[in-house]
Amino acid sequence: MRILITGGAGFIASHLAEHLLAAGDEVWALDDLSTGSIENIEHLKPHPKYHYQIGSIMDTATLAEMVDRCDVIYHLAAAVGVRLIVESPVRTIETNIRGTELVLEAAAKKKKLVVIASTSEVYGKSTKIPFCEEDDLVIGPPTRGRWSYACSKAIDEFLALAYWKERRQPVIVMRFFNTVGPRQTGRYGMVLPNFVRQALAGEPVTVFGPGTQSRCFGYVGDVVEALGKLIRVPEAIGHVFNVGSDEEVTIDELARRVCRIVGGKSQIAHIPYEQAYEEGFEDMHRRVPSLEKIGRLIGYKPKTTLDQIIEKVVEYERAHSPRSLHSV
Ligand code: UDP
Repeated sequence: MRILITGGAGFIASHLAEHLLAAGDEVWALDDLSTGSIENIEHLKPHPKYHYQIGSIMDTATLAEMVDRCDVIYHLAAAVGVRLIVESPVRTIETNIRGTELVLEAAAKKKKLVVIASTSEVYGKSTKIPFCEEDDLVIGPPTRGRWSYACSKAIDEFLALAYWKERRQPVIVMRFFNTVGPRQTGRYGMVLPNFVRQALAGEPVTVFGPGTQSRCFGYVGDVVEALGKLIRVPEAIGHVFNVGSDEEVTIDELARRVCRIVGGKSQIAHIPYEQAYEEGFEDMHRRVPSLEKIGRLIGYKPKTTLDQIIEKVVEYERAHSPRSLHSV
């Protein structure tokens, strides 16, 4: 198949391209390099079936041309990362909503399947365990910046499903739960790359808030395999799927495991949320996906354990981070 990936130089997109190329697909990547990085795709450039274009999804002519060339679009271009969202809310809302609108509009002209990247963040502060795709979304007030991300992604989902319902434009919505792995940058606040870099540099590993909050970290390799399968299953169209892992870990425990696996002398430091983010910052305490729906449809099961994921990220950061030259 011929596949377009928007946000193609991003962390998940680069792994997805690798996976699709290995399966024999032809891949076009479109990225404006706002948060993505050419380094993520450097190794893919020589592949005869890999093509990339530096440009924005907001440039409708480029987008239309690339959409026309492909059979399926993975729309991964978005503003992501809690730090970026808190610091640049206008960019978050505009990129996420307008960008998705343009991609759906372009795809709908030729009825090309669009996979929309959404997020577990849409469940908001719901306390239900685990989260199922049909559950209510419980989102905080607009005065708290973080929720603009959840809301913008929820609008993307509504819009995608509306295109399916009203115009028979095929869509699949994926809710990613804390996807991690090599090449993820810590620049926009993601916890695992930050912990690993801090531990490798022998610096304090900074746990924000109480540390009793928990997450489930999905390995990017497992996640892109699922993404590759779903576009080949017609029953997936018009549906929302959770994807990730259901192995739950507290952030304190994650910090301890990173320190143990790196094996250095780093201490764990607790930093209040208002210092790490902003006054009144709200975090979610637990976030566990139900993987039943995606499991039923394509037999998805996370294969990579948290310790294996940490080991892979440590190995990658050791090889790539300049700071790791001074590592413990
Ligand atoms: N976090 C942390 N230290 C960091 C970055 C994040 O303790 O350097 C915490 C953050 O407050 C949250 C959890 O780790 O409770 C996961 O954060 P991340 O930004 O990776 O993902 P999300 O909040 O979207 O789940």
